[in-house]
Amino acid sequence: MDVVDRFSGNSVATAYLPPSVLKRPNLTVAVATTVEKVLFDESGSEPRAIGVEVSKSPVSPKYRVKASREVILCGGAVATPHILLVSGIGPQEELSKVGIKVVKDLSQVGKNYYDVGCLPVTGVLCIDPGV
Ligand SMILES: Cc1cc2nc3c(=O)[nH]c(=O)nc-3n(C[C@H](O)[C@H](O)[C@H](O)COP(=O)(O)OP(=O)(O)OC[C@H]3O[C@@H](n4cnc5c(N)ncnc54)[C@H](O)[C@@H]3O)c2cc1C
Repeated sequence: MDVVDRFSGNSVATAYLPPSVLKRPNLTVAVATTVEKVLFDESGSEPRAIGVEVSKSPVSPKYRVKASREVILCGGAVATPHILLVSGIGPQEELSKVGIKVVKDLSQVGKNYYDVGCLPVTGVLCIDPGV
C-alpha cells in the first residue's frame, strides 16, 4: 500500500474502505460516532461482551449496538484501555473509587503503556559502490 501517492495522502479509510467494500451488505460504518463503553452479559461464569454503547457527542442520546457474534475493540493504545476501564474491566479498587461498577477485576488494564524511545539521528550515509 502506498502511504502517500504523488499528490494526496492515503488513510486507513481510503486504503481499507474503498466503495467496493463500503457497499457490502454486512458492513455499516458509523462516522463521527464514539464508543462510550462495551456492554456485557454477566449471567454466565465470565462476563461476555455483547455490544457497545455509542453516541455522537457527550450530550447526544446514547444508542446500544448489539453484536451478533463478538466485539472487537480497536481504539488504539490509549483509548482501548480507557474504554475497557469505563466499561468496568480493570483494577477493582481503582474502578470502585471512581464509582464504576466492576464487571471483571483485571489489575493490568491500563498499566502497560510505555513511551517508545526516540533518538534524533543526524548523519551522512556513505554508500560504497564496491561493497
Ligand atoms: C506520531 C506517530 C507516528 C507513528 N509512525 C508509525 C510508522 O511510521 N510506522 C508504523 O508502523 N507505526 C507508526 N505508528 C504507530 C501506529 O500508528 C500504530 O501502531 C497503529 O496506528 C495502531 O493501530 P490501531 O488500529 O491499533 O490504532 P489506531 O490507529 O490508533 O486507531 C484507533 C482508532 O480508534 C478511534 N477511536 C478511539 N477511541 C474511540 C471511541 N471511543 N469510539 C470510536 N472510535 C474511537 C480513533 O479515532 C482511531 O481512529 C506511529 C504512531 C504515532 C503516534
